[in-house]
Amino acid sequence: TTPSSAAADPAAGAAVKAADRAHVFHSWSAQGLIDPLPIAGAEGAYFWDYDGNRYLDFSSQLVNTNIGHQHPKVVAAIQEQAAKLCTIAPGFAVDVRSEAARLVAERTPGDLDKIFFTNGGAEAVENAVRMARLHTGRAKVLSAYRSYHGATATAINLTGDPRRWPSDTASAGVIHFWGPFLYRSAFHAETEEQECERALAHLEQTIAFEGPQSIAAIILETVPGTAGIMVPPAGYLAGVREICDRHGIVFILDEVMAGFGRTGQWFAADHFGVTPDLLTFAKGVNSGYVPLGGVAISAEIAATFDQRPYPGGLTYSGHPLACASAVATMNAMAEERIVENAADIGERVIGPALREIAERHPSVGEVRGMGVFWALDLVKNKETREPLVPYNAAGAANAPMAEFAAACKRGGLWPFVNMNRTHVVPACTITEAEAKEGLAALDEALTAADAHT
Ligand code: PMP
Repeated sequence: TTPSSAAADPAAGAAVKAADRAHVFHSWSAQGLIDPLPIAGAEGAYFWDYDGNRYLDFSSQLVNTNIGHQHPKVVAAIQEQAAKLCTIAPGFAVDVRSEAARLVAERTPGDLDKIFFTNGGAEAVENAVRMARLHTGRAKVLSAYRSYHGATATAINLTGDPRRWPSDTASAGVIHFWGPFLYRSAFHAETEEQECERALAHLEQTIAFEGPQSIAAIILETVPGTAGIMVPPAGYLAGVREICDRHGIVFILDEVMAGFGRTGQWFAADHFGVTPDLLTFAKGVNSGYVPLGGVAISAEIAATFDQRPYPGGLTYSGHPLACASAVATMNAMAEERIVENAADIGERVIGPALREIAERHPSVGEVRGMGVFWALDLVKNKETREPLVPYNAAGAANAPMAEFAAACKRGGLWPFVNMNRTHVVPACTITEAEAKEGLAALDEALTAADAHT
């Protein structure tokens, strides 16, 4: 059953907000300028506030509720595990941790058969980089400008977007390069083939000038997410794999956002037939019901730490409640064919509808994506492709995107908005009817963006 919404209780909502403002310090925010929406509940692809407003969640929170909210099998698994064993140190062998590791290893490509668990994506990236540095004895790591890898020390420096800037002084050993992105090509390419070829040549040249013998790893999001859902051209990732092999560089694919069904496959790497040496995951592994992430490790890199200790660990690595929720999530996704649903709804309903919407709206410059992982690149002018708001716009300069987001919310749709883009990233469980409801609200809200073209 789809929830209509809980009975409105604005007084309770006001109390929740007042308590939040008193003591909660929020991420990425000027604390005095924010107005967090009090949330009363959530189910499936929806959540609702205390004022009787229900939102269809086209953001999946932070692109993590792949299985939707409050999936009964996952909730029950957490409750059962809580009654049995809430916590145990990472050094012990426990059934639920071994089973979670087995299920992840079974789904990841190639010989990525050993799983190091973390509490989320950034810690997964930190540990993948540490493993690569120790395995190669080299220090430098290359990452793409158009990327997001997390907010801990190394992960934020690997990240390409402006959130890196305040901590740039700590970026020793991190080198950025341009990945492929035909719509806003750094290489003046006109075709996907040219973009692929030139992006690989640029990477080769970056490596040559940095010194291949000093580079531990190249880290890439298989399909960059936060930076704009840019599906790489055919051959690019295979090309990077070949470059890494030739120079003895560890290839890390960050699947924190793209993994576990988002692209219509278990992993985005499955679309491209590429196996990295290390694969980072989080978010969809258990839809964020309990914090969990990890690194899937190749046999060769795992062997580095066979007779020599791995110098890294976390009190909550492989936490029983997190692992129980991951086992239940992966099993439910298989039983209910949720990855197949993401592929079907994405290719049959969302993709075609977005392309049709783009034709009618002057503000939609490009539609790109796969599965339930789509972006609309909003522009002032379709010919020049000038972004609807400038790069890293804030305050008044960002008004067109703020107006668009407000229009979505008035229409009962919770959008994902970043810079000049909106991403259509609903739960992998979304039904055709729900997708159509959200697409209709999006269509209407885009007239607010059109007004700025
Ligand atoms: N890598 C990627 C590709 C991500 O999208 C994110 C989160 N958006 C992270 C890493 C960081 O994950 P977390 O916020 O769980 O630390």
